[in-house]
Amino acid sequence: MHLMSPASTGSNFGLQTRRTLLSRSLASAGLLVLPTRAFCATGLVISNVTGIYSVVVARVETPTRTEEVTHAVRQWSGRVAVGGGRYSMGGQVAVSGGLHLDMRVMNRLVWIRREDKVVRVQAGMRWRDLQDIVDPLNLSIKTMQSYSNFTVGGSVSVNAHGRYVGRGPVGNTVRALQIVLADGSVVEASGTQNAELFRAAVGGYGAIGVITEVELELVDNTRIERVVTKVSLDRYAQYFDDSVLADESCMLHNADLLPPEFNEPVCVTWRTMTKPLTELGRLVPQHQNYGVEKNVLWALTELPGGSRLNTSVVHPLLTARPCVKWLNHEASLDVAELEPRTRRISTYVLQEFFVPRRRFLSFSRDLAGVLRRHQVEAVNVSIRHSPADGLSMLPWAKEDVFSFVLYFKQRTHARALEAVGRWTRELIDLAIENEGRYYLPYQLHATREQFNRAYPEAEALRELKRIVDPQSKFSNRLLNFAHE
Ligand SMILES: Cc1cc2nc3c(=O)[nH]c(=O)nc-3n(C[C@H](O)[C@H](O)[C@H](O)COP(=O)(O)OP(=O)(O)OC[C@H]3O[C@@H](n4cnc5c(N)ncnc54)[C@H](O)[C@@H]3O)c2cc1C
Repeated sequence: MHLMSPASTGSNFGLQTRRTLLSRSLASAGLLVLPTRAFCATGLVISNVTGIYSVVVARVETPTRTEEVTHAVRQWSGRVAVGGGRYSMGGQVAVSGGLHLDMRVMNRLVWIRREDKVVRVQAGMRWRDLQDIVDPLNLSIKTMQSYSNFTVGGSVSVNAHGRYVGRGPVGNTVRALQIVLADGSVVEASGTQNAELFRAAVGGYGAIGVITEVELELVDNTRIERVVTKVSLDRYAQYFDDSVLADESCMLHNADLLPPEFNEPVCVTWRTMTKPLTELGRLVPQHQNYGVEKNVLWALTELPGGSRLNTSVVHPLLTARPCVKWLNHEASLDVAELEPRTRRISTYVLQEFFVPRRRFLSFSRDLAGVLRRHQVEAVNVSIRHSPADGLSMLPWAKEDVFSFVLYFKQRTHARALEAVGRWTRELIDLAIENEGRYYLPYQLHATREQFNRAYPEAEALRELKRIVDPQSKFSNRLLNFAHE
């Protein structure tokens, strides 16, 4: 049995460069020093990045090999939940009174084939550790989130996506999985072998078993150049089609909507390029000190008028500076740069909604209205695109979608949680009315009825679970709810 170490860090996607630039301006003005207080979890409390919705478990195991996972699952007669980096935000990594499998030390390379651009790793490996392996071979991870701290297994289990143009979720890059099932048996699953289990494990939040190994496609590392453009909200979808999706040089793209109006997308596109590098580092170094960035986050969200700094200072600074770097550098960002000094009184969180492209405009306008009406302390809303997901049994992109990633600050007291729950459910309704869905790794505010409307495919996953896990051994706060 092991005691838990503190969970770490905070959120958001499109902020880092702007924050770095703003931080320099604020630092040179001598602004802002905050007190520190570390957030930590003790005993058998399984926390997550937000500091809220922790779960008390009965036992924790930290396997390093598949056989140890098998042994732990066989020996434990109660419920079992799996945890990776613990960046999900609503207790998806633990089940009350159950066994928690902490996968973070099951993180070794199994093999890599440079010529085929394929790698196989243990599921607890973080993207950043994989980047240390592939970068010297001039290879890159094909699809991952905007930050590199997440485990490969956790990312596959939520079927994460990034800013990669046209690639969709990470499941599209998974060749095969090794999975430990509820009876302790070990199976290999892929598109052609145990295909149902494969589809259920990708985006399945640990519902049918523990992913112990992941085989992934890689791509060549390339030089990329940042291009920043402002477009009007009503032109954005067309702009994306014509100038981003249709242009093969566009590698990464997102567009930020900023408070209080959320009506003028600032598009940040990274194109492949052969120009000289302006950033010479191949990867963002690990364990950097992000003290100044923390102060900037505070300024943006706590100072009167702070949110307007984004529009008046940060984006102008961003557009003024050319940036050419390696893809691996941009893909190795560390969430530590977003971590506030404390999460005791308030915490920084995400919610995400997916809507079909034909509903882009109506959803964006209504979303802005809800955020303003409820005075949501939004830092920004980051827009991305994904083609339809034909793989996962629980797909968040049933068709071609735009996603809206809301990054916001909220207080941690009970009344604040209730208030956030109310407007989040309003936004979930809005997404569903627009034939869309919401993302499942964040705070679990949806009602059961909303979940069932958003994810009608859950019934197929439930059926499969009844066969491979008849006692519902694998569980967590999301699955408790999703599988009843
Ligand atoms: C700052 C920040 C930025 C983010 N950016 C993005 C983004 O750009 N795109 C995006 O899609 N998401 C994003 N997310 C959400 C993130 O992708 C998910 O929270 C993801 O789960 C994190 O991986 P993890 O290793 O922390 O998984 P965890 O949170 O530890 O686990 C997530 C789920 O997967 C299950 N699981 C974990 N490992 C295994 C395993 N080996 N076998 C079976 N089940 C397992 C867990 O039980 C849990 O249900 C972001 C989150 C944060 C905090």
